[in-house]
Amino acid sequence: MARLIARAHELGALVVWDLAHSAGAIPVDVTGCDADFAVGCSYKYLNSGPGGPAFIYVAPRLADRVRPALSGWLGHEAPFAFDLDYRPGAGIERMRVGTPPILPLAALDAALDVWEGVDMQDIRAKSIALQEMFIAKVEAACPELTLASPRDAAARGSQVSFRHPQGYAIIQALIAEGVIGDFRAPDILRFGFTPLYLSEADVEKAADILCDIMATGSWDKPEFHRRAAVT
Ligand SMILES: *Cc1c(COP(=O)(O)O)cnc(C)c1O
Repeated sequence: MARLIARAHELGALVVWDLAHSAGAIPVDVTGCDADFAVGCSYKYLNSGPGGPAFIYVAPRLADRVRPALSGWLGHEAPFAFDLDYRPGAGIERMRVGTPPILPLAALDAALDVWEGVDMQDIRAKSIALQEMFIAKVEAACPELTLASPRDAAARGSQVSFRHPQGYAIIQALIAEGVIGDFRAPDILRFGFTPLYLSEADVEKAADILCDIMATGSWDKPEFHRRAAVT
């Protein structure tokens, strides 16, 4: 990040980072690498639940100059003045578009309590250990799946993807067994590892179930080939 940001700044460009798959999964230091902007969601590795609040980071050096794409009433300098003209609030305040969603924020607040005292370096180390274990087990027991992610753990986030032409049906068969992965066209089986609460036993079980599905061919049932909107 630091290298890309420095290069962008040399060329007079700004960078927006999408941290949806980073926050809560890998250590990210937006101030340390002089990031301009970052956005992300709280419902993946931060565990706020589906539809949980998104977040935005704006470097303090830009916060009073940037104009929000959505000029919401609660980001107005004087929200209760009901002025006819929009005047952005001070600094990051202007990014608050509307009334905060209190129930989802309460869920996020509780989800964040679990992070108290957690060191992101430990989270990263556990994430890599779980991924390495999963890769080793899957490669040993299901050779028909090909690793699609970089083999170098340092080049991965907290996901591992494999390729298989029947990826869609295999993921459906896994979901039916309680192992929730994603399918991404055309042939990617994607697995996310949430290091905060997933154990080695969970990952071992997931790998066993996957390899059992492959060995028995149980993915090849009509219901697993039926395409749904969410993959
Ligand atoms: C999940 C995700 C988001 C979050 O999108 P929402 O509209 O907040 O649900 C953004 N970017 C990427 C790459 C994602 O995976």
